[in-house]
Amino acid sequence: MIFVKSKGRNISGKFAGFFSIAGNTVLFAFKLWAGLVTGSVALIADAWHTLSDSVSSVILLIGIYVSSKPADNEHPYGHGRAEVIASLFIGLILVLIAINFLYESVNRIITGETVIFGYLAITVTAISLVVKEIMAQISFYASRNEGSKALFADGWHHRSDAFTSLIILVGILLGRYIWWIDGALGAFVSVMILILAFRIVKDSIDPLLGEKPDKELIDKINNIGNEIYSGELYSHHFNIHKYGNHTELTFHIKLPGNYKLDNANRITALFIKRIRSELDIVATIYIDAYKEELKQ
Ligand SMILES: [Zn+2]
Ligand SMILES: [Zn+2]
Repeated sequence: MIFVKSKGRNISGKFAGFFSIAGNTVLFAFKLWAGLVTGSVALIADAWHTLSDSVSSVILLIGIYVSSKPADNEHPYGHGRAEVIASLFIGLILVLIAINFLYESVNRIITGETVIFGYLAITVTAISLVVKEIMAQISFYASRNEGSKALFADGWHHRSDAFTSLIILVGILLGRYIWWIDGALGAFVSVMILILAFRIVKDSIDPLLGEKPDKELIDKINNIGNEIYSGELYSHHFNIHKYGNHTELTFHIKLPGNYKLDNANRITALFIKRIRSELDIVATIYIDAYKEELKQ
């Protein structure tokens, strides 16, 4: 992907998103076509998974725009949760798709139905393998550029899709000798969809429940604190709430009981301002007072 950088542009998350939407929509059409022509449950199931990837990328991109809309009176925590609800919806639809195709695949093995894969199925699956790996490379590249964990996870999703295509391709090539191959591949694809669905649902629910911030974030906050106040602030009781792009953080600090109120206020105000500008987090800080003697 060096060639893109040499033109003076960096691959961004948005580019990765647009590429995923376009690529997955085209792949969906070809996979569905190949699936319907051959009557393969594996190819049809994989086609719907691919369409869901495209829709997920649309939601992600809309989320990037909508979440950046500032909070208003009706939505005091911003608009990030719209993205969460949309992802939850995709996850639940994928569960239904997975169950449906798992049932069809098992049924196919039980009834002993066979499928003759032709060159169309082989070509489409090989193209999918290559395109999915290119998507993975683009996402990994963009994740390095933007330091984004979400893009990194996207990259692994694309790579696991490429792996699924590889398994299907091998299955098709061996399929001449194994009559139950389509049912087995269909079941494999369905289980992969189910795993994806559970991950999407879990990822969208987790932030709603509130999380403990990771150590990395606490370290960054303590570093800012050390620059603001010469003594120890004893920051503790961290609580984080994510609403899509919008993050709220509450925590406590300790100050001497005889500390002047306007000085204490200056510390928290500066602390909040710097957390906002450096970490893009809206913080609320509570002050616990301790007796002066406690200070080392
Ligand atoms: Zn996928
Ligand atoms: Zn406290």
